[in-house]
Amino acid sequence: MLRFKNLGSGSAGNATLVEAHCGTQVSRLLIDCGLSVRELGKRLIAADLNLEDIDAVFITHEHADHVGHARAFAQKTGADVWMSKGTALACNLAEWDLGPEQFNVARDGEAIQIGALQLHPFTVPHDAREPLQLRCTDGDVHLGVLTDLGHGSSHVVQALQHCHALLLECNHDPALLAQSSYPGFLKKRIAGPQGHLSNEESAQLISALVHPSLNLIVAAHLSERNNRPDLAQSLVAMAAGCQASEIEVADPLLGTPWFKVH
Ligand SMILES: [Zn+2]
Ligand SMILES: [Zn+2]
Repeated sequence: MLRFKNLGSGSAGNATLVEAHCGTQVSRLLIDCGLSVRELGKRLIAADLNLEDIDAVFITHEHADHVGHARAFAQKTGADVWMSKGTALACNLAEWDLGPEQFNVARDGEAIQIGALQLHPFTVPHDAREPLQLRCTDGDVHLGVLTDLGHGSSHVVQALQHCHALLLECNHDPALLAQSSYPGFLKKRIAGPQGHLSNEESAQLISALVHPSLNLIVAAHLSERNNRPDLAQSLVAMAAGCQASEIEVADPLLGTPWFKVH
């Protein structure tokens, strides 16, 4: 059994919990740690879990909304830490003061086994040093986790074929971004090919990934200023061939309930 719960999604801090069950074995991974340890602890308690229940944390890239509190989390819990070499360099991992063998290097195309959970990292086009996003599986069903990318490259499309569930960035509506008070350089960065996915680009990606067993799409990493859930839902639903109300949206501050992948 594979299930996941987003604990917060967006510039205020990202964290997603993925849990795999195999017989009596339960394995839990935190993807990104942009929430303070205190806040994370509170949200885990609300999900009937504790900080110590997390086996490992996977950091997708060095932007503060993803890695911001990972050091404190890793030091407090002793959980294994996974990230690319480039991300480790970019966030000065050598100074994190981790325990021996607590850090593990993740690489594009190399599977990682964490108990009952298997991860398949893949590179994405984003303005970070060596960003990786993930496909997660319990060996039966597959979940794709994809935030922070500027466009859906063919490598991304290849890596996420035949997923049963997707947590997918729908960052902005181009018109709202163009009208916003953001400085010009930032608008250019966000809309650029190494920035973030617009609703239209996310919908295009869904068109390339949709198949009869894709049962759940969660729109994530929505900009609070430059997007609205209904805009993301309607475009993604059109591409997926479902109703807008069937597209779930991760609340930037509250995340989502648990979703079982099936
Ligand atoms: Zn981000
Ligand atoms: Zn980023």
